[in-house]
Amino acid sequence: MKTACIENKKMSAKEIIESYKGKPLRIMEVCGTHTHEIFRLGIRNILPDTIKLISGPGCPVCVTPVGFIDESLMLALEHRAVICTFGDLLRVPGSKMSLADSRQKGASIKMVYSPVDALSYAKEHPDKEIVFLSVGFETTTPASCLAVKKAKADGIKNFSLLVANKTMPEAYKILKNSADAFLYPGHVDAIAGTSVCESLVKEGVSGVVTGFTANELLTALAVAIKLSEKGKPFFKNCYPRVVKSEGNIPAQELVNETMESCDSEWRGLGKIKKSGLKLRADYKDFDARTRFNLPKIPGKSNPACRCGDILQGKCKPTECGLFGKICNPQHPVGACMVSNEGACSAYYQYGGNL
Ligand code: SF4
Repeated sequence: MKTACIENKKMSAKEIIESYKGKPLRIMEVCGTHTHEIFRLGIRNILPDTIKLISGPGCPVCVTPVGFIDESLMLALEHRAVICTFGDLLRVPGSKMSLADSRQKGASIKMVYSPVDALSYAKEHPDKEIVFLSVGFETTTPASCLAVKKAKADGIKNFSLLVANKTMPEAYKILKNSADAFLYPGHVDAIAGTSVCESLVKEGVSGVVTGFTANELLTALAVAIKLSEKGKPFFKNCYPRVVKSEGNIPAQELVNETMESCDSEWRGLGKIKKSGLKLRADYKDFDARTRFNLPKIPGKSNPACRCGDILQGKCKPTECGLFGKICNPQHPVGACMVSNEGACSAYYQYGGNL
């Protein structure tokens, strides 16, 4: 397995990784899907002791704070709105219960595969208020923007978004000392382009963009190793078949038309300036917080849950005292065990001792 991305043509990516004997390297898988794929493909098993992989905050469900679940519950239970959501959010514990639990109290919670599905449901049920829980990063945000734009164009009055969408650039800066290099999420950069990651090099932040296959992940790790050896901050796009430097311009324009930057609360990372999105004033009628006059809800997670530390790369899931005992995928205590992209669920599924 030799690729154009690696200067050393004599060794495969796997050989470069296995033979690495340089200074210890901490590489953060920013994206939860990378965490799961690296586990699933057995890549962790070939890493030398000198390379430490750290799971990062790139799981949208994991970084969504408890207060957002509490807001959703208030909409469902007090305002009797129908909550439309992706499946992963259903079982994330709020301060008192999850959205799935709230069904027993009469809440109407509907799982959907896209915000446009939620909009269709709103059109079919004009007598009900439909709220879509809009979470995610650069990759999923355009779909929410498309739904809200269509809702406005079609004059739909019973559809709104509860928005907690986030953007990655400011989070990279906050986390820059947590790792020596980032594995940047290919699907985020496919939308956003590479200019932000390239400019982070000036701030001393190193990283490589990668895809999700074994070849792509091994190549990215090998490239990160080879560039780290040069001792200077670096950036490399190792996913050029999908990621272009300019990104997806129509998607960027759609987001800019409907949403604007705002400060945002991240589970574990606290409030990060300009790391979130909110609907622009032209779309305020579709903002569930405005429509239902929601109060600020801080939310309270289980104090023993270490999701916050895990999302900052400060500890491994196995270092949480609840891991595998009280907390497991059937009975998750924190978001990182619920989500298919969560680090705790990856460690539980593929090997708790790694
Ligand atoms: S194992 Fe469970 S309780 Fe511990 S950090 Fe992970 S999600 Fe939270």
